[in-house]
Amino acid sequence: MKGEKIMSKNKELEKKLKYENKSTFSKLDVKIHESVFSFCDEYRNFINVSKTEREFCDQSCRLLEKEGFVPLQNKSNLQPGDKVYTVNRGKAVIAAVIGSEPIENGVNIVGAHIDSPRLDLKPIPLAEEGGFAYFRTQYYGGIKRYQWFAVPLAIHGVAALQDGTQINITVGEDENDPVFCVSDILPHFAARQMSKKVTEAFPNENLSVIIGNIACDDEEIKEGIKFNILKILYEKFDLCEEDLVSSEIEIVPAFPARDLGFDRSMVAGYGQDDRVCAYTALRAVLDLTVPKKTAVCLLVDKEEVGSMGATGMRSRRFENVLAKICSLKEKNYSDLMLRETLSNSSCLSADVGAAYDPNFPEAFTKNNAAKINCGLLLTKYTGSKGKSGASDASAEFVAKVRKIFNDNEVAWQIAELGNTDLGGGGTIAQYVANLDVDVIDCGVPLLSMHSPYEIAGKLDIYMAYKGYKAFYLDN
Ligand code: MN
Ligand code: MN
Repeated sequence: MKGEKIMSKNKELEKKLKYENKSTFSKLDVKIHESVFSFCDEYRNFINVSKTEREFCDQSCRLLEKEGFVPLQNKSNLQPGDKVYTVNRGKAVIAAVIGSEPIENGVNIVGAHIDSPRLDLKPIPLAEEGGFAYFRTQYYGGIKRYQWFAVPLAIHGVAALQDGTQINITVGEDENDPVFCVSDILPHFAARQMSKKVTEAFPNENLSVIIGNIACDDEEIKEGIKFNILKILYEKFDLCEEDLVSSEIEIVPAFPARDLGFDRSMVAGYGQDDRVCAYTALRAVLDLTVPKKTAVCLLVDKEEVGSMGATGMRSRRFENVLAKICSLKEKNYSDLMLRETLSNSSCLSADVGAAYDPNFPEAFTKNNAAKINCGLLLTKYTGSKGKSGASDASAEFVAKVRKIFNDNEVAWQIAELGNTDLGGGGTIAQYVANLDVDVIDCGVPLLSMHSPYEIAGKLDIYMAYKGYKAFYLDN
């Protein structure tokens, strides 16, 4: 009897002292379970029509306008509860719901990126070789090149013409559309390829996309297959070869996102890094009415190549937009007001993390790996080799975010980005931190990150939405 009593007391104490991630699907109540699945249906549909940063941007604006957000440039002043958005060069969006508190108290930011790894066309992409017409490509972001061979590909993009018009090009998404492909050598002849290192077996210069095979039947035309493609591009899109010089055309997987597993507990699809966090952040900001602090949904481009450029996080764009919001919200705008607003702001850097993969256990540290469908993932620091390049969220800020999630029943987990010294990565967090803003990485863990078919857990997707919303509503 005595022993039993001590046991139960210890059990109680254990419950109090021990950290254990208890968030799993089986512990969810039925109502939340249903919300998770219907939310993820909407998510899947959304990412199927927004495979590039430009498309994500357009679809976001459509959703924002439907929910009463208006272009920031249309406003001459801002009141609590006003909903505004602004687009940066067609490739990035900032949406805000104005809070009731003075803006100098800081804003709550959830920042995600809407670019994904892919193949981009080279400046002069069209070529003919060995009986095929090709688009020559340059890869964008960190891809494993071999994953892009022998899979159906679609072409998405825009061509900007000299007269200022823009031509949208999407081929490969409709089931009646043709698709495109990078060919691979048959296994029968692959002995040499198979004995090479993967990086050497699939060189960048082999990432040429087959786009045609029929030659124009005219002896006077030198490259008849290429010419035939030029004729098609002209007929279909009114484009000539030089127009491709001022185009941004991206090659992405042609297949849609699908439910994964008999139990439909996951979503598999292209570009979930980072559209899964971008979509959930967007949905969270759409739900707000009059938050205390101004809520900002920041969707940026170019994260996958280092956040450079005018549409990336390193650009002054965010500061410029925040300055505009400050000046429209408060009287007596000053540079100091902007600086104080930034100083008092907080940010969730909403980006995906690496989930534990039982096929590759050596890549992860036990107890410090994220798991699919175990909740929204906090990553205190990213970087590589001794936190190098990490912004490393402060203990105080981690405590604040932990409290928000615990108070609002947001299932969460915390992990490192893979095994120490194995590799690493970065997010926009460090560039947000440079603005004197508290920031922590917080997103959905993925399997097969940066592959053409990334895997996310539905519980985690829903908890991202719930967590971002709770963060927006915190003071
Ligand atoms: Mn990312
Ligand atoms: Mn990435």
